[in-house]
Amino acid sequence: MYRFRATAMQGYLLVAILAAIVLSVTFITTFSLYRTALEGQRARLVETAQSQARLMEAIARFDRIHAVHDPDRPPFESTLSQIRDAHENFKGFGETGEFTLARREGNQIVFLLSHRFADLNKLHPVAFDSKKAEPMRRALRGESGSMIGLDYHGDIVLAAYEPVAQLNLGVVAKIDMAEVRAPFIRTGSLAIFIASILIFIGAWLFRRITHPMLKRLETSEERLKIATDGTHEGFWLWDIKTEHSWFAPNFKSLLGYAKDEAFPEEFSTWESRIHPEDKERVLESLKQHLENNVTYDCDHRLRMKSGEYKWFRDRGVAVRDDSGQPIQMGGSIQDINDLKQAEEQLKLRNEELQKLSLHDSLTGIANRRMFDRLLEIEWARAQRSKQMLSLLFIDIDFFKQYNDHYGHQAGDACLKQIAKTLSFIARRPADLVARYGGEEFVVLLPETAEEHALRLAQLCQSAVVEQDIPHEASAVKDVVTISVGVCSVEVTAGMQAKALIEAADKAQYQAKKNGRNRVEVL
Ligand code: GH3
Ligand code: MG
Ligand code: MG
Repeated sequence: MYRFRATAMQGYLLVAILAAIVLSVTFITTFSLYRTALEGQRARLVETAQSQARLMEAIARFDRIHAVHDPDRPPFESTLSQIRDAHENFKGFGETGEFTLARREGNQIVFLLSHRFADLNKLHPVAFDSKKAEPMRRALRGESGSMIGLDYHGDIVLAAYEPVAQLNLGVVAKIDMAEVRAPFIRTGSLAIFIASILIFIGAWLFRRITHPMLKRLETSEERLKIATDGTHEGFWLWDIKTEHSWFAPNFKSLLGYAKDEAFPEEFSTWESRIHPEDKERVLESLKQHLENNVTYDCDHRLRMKSGEYKWFRDRGVAVRDDSGQPIQMGGSIQDINDLKQAEEQLKLRNEELQKLSLHDSLTGIANRRMFDRLLEIEWARAQRSKQMLSLLFIDIDFFKQYNDHYGHQAGDACLKQIAKTLSFIARRPADLVARYGGEEFVVLLPETAEEHALRLAQLCQSAVVEQDIPHEASAVKDVVTISVGVCSVEVTAGMQAKALIEAADKAQYQAKKNGRNRVEVL
């Protein structure tokens, strides 16, 4: 929801930026027009001041040369009167435009002419060193030019000033800055007003259009959130072209992250977490789905935030364009770690059971069932390869007595030791040592001729004799011996495997008969 609000805010920000641009352009345009008008006004004032000053100079010069003056008045007054007459019809300019003439009298600036105010009493003298009437002060100092400064009223004016050297007067043509600025302030204000209304309308329209859309998006996002949070699935989306991915908050929490924690929204974020042993299989499965539309339903391990791996079931389906090309894919992961662990345990238990059913629980070597199975296999192989197959049949001598004497536990230890000894002697990968019955062992020797089998049988017999068979009965150590029957055959069609066992057993019986602790061959 916050995301949509942020997007809406970005929209408003855009409107505000556009508004700022429009206002700036309006301001710059108005300001440059104002500058142009100001310069135009300045040039007009300079022109007026200069031409009026020249006119006065000319009148003064004429009066002096021709000594034309009113006999009732002093010469200056007479010239001044002519100047005033010459300016009777001066039109001036603007609402506040004024053309003035003044002279310095002691420490005062005394105004002699104003084309606006015929009554000169309205133009009060101004102290020469005051801040007012700065343009006239400059003119009376003999300077010429233009400036923005205070006039004799104390108003800010744009003024041009010129001295009239012949008469020690100063001429100023001026206009109020307020009048120069007024049209631009009016235009600028109007433009800002119109722009503000347009901006307001723009923002209002933006809100009117986007608000219902955002509302709908917020609602659907909220619904999606409730739906996705309500399940234990971690949803994901993948844009196949851009490689951009989206992971739902649940996806992150399934991997041990906080729902709002940063999680790069890239395809590689998921891909890099797949267990190296599963990766090839998973990517192949994904490829098969994208290329051949084979269902994507794949169990694999993903690396958690903690670094450990957990099992997940990943299912998804691609969205395709009109030509069948996949453009997007969406799906979800589900935590199946417990299920997998249970499966694993079951598998181990089955393996254990299998092992138990094929192995003798006391000695750990093959039991009779396994021996029978492997004998069948070796029998068929020997028939194909035409190699000799040999079998040793071993029975412990007087074992009943041993048990009676040392106890059953010592008897078990003895059986274990003998199994170990026999396994050590018949240790080629193909050899098989098995416990055939209570205290009977068999040793199957594939690809072994009688001569070699006999030698191995003797080795077994002597090895059993030579070693100390452990028993729990204090210091008494007894020598345990075995009787071994040997039988070697070249397997041909029609022969039965059990005949080999019977023959070896028979040879073993012979060994018993002949005094025990010996080897007999049949
Ligand atoms: P023989 O020399 O004629 O073979 O005499 P024997 O006493 O060994 O006679 P037999 O082979 O008939 O004896 C079998 C004895 O093996 C009986 C039983 O006490 C003992 N036995 C069989 N299975 C086990 C076992 O798992 N543990 C122990 N401790 N003894 C066993
Ligand atoms: Mg026996
Ligand atoms: Mg025995």
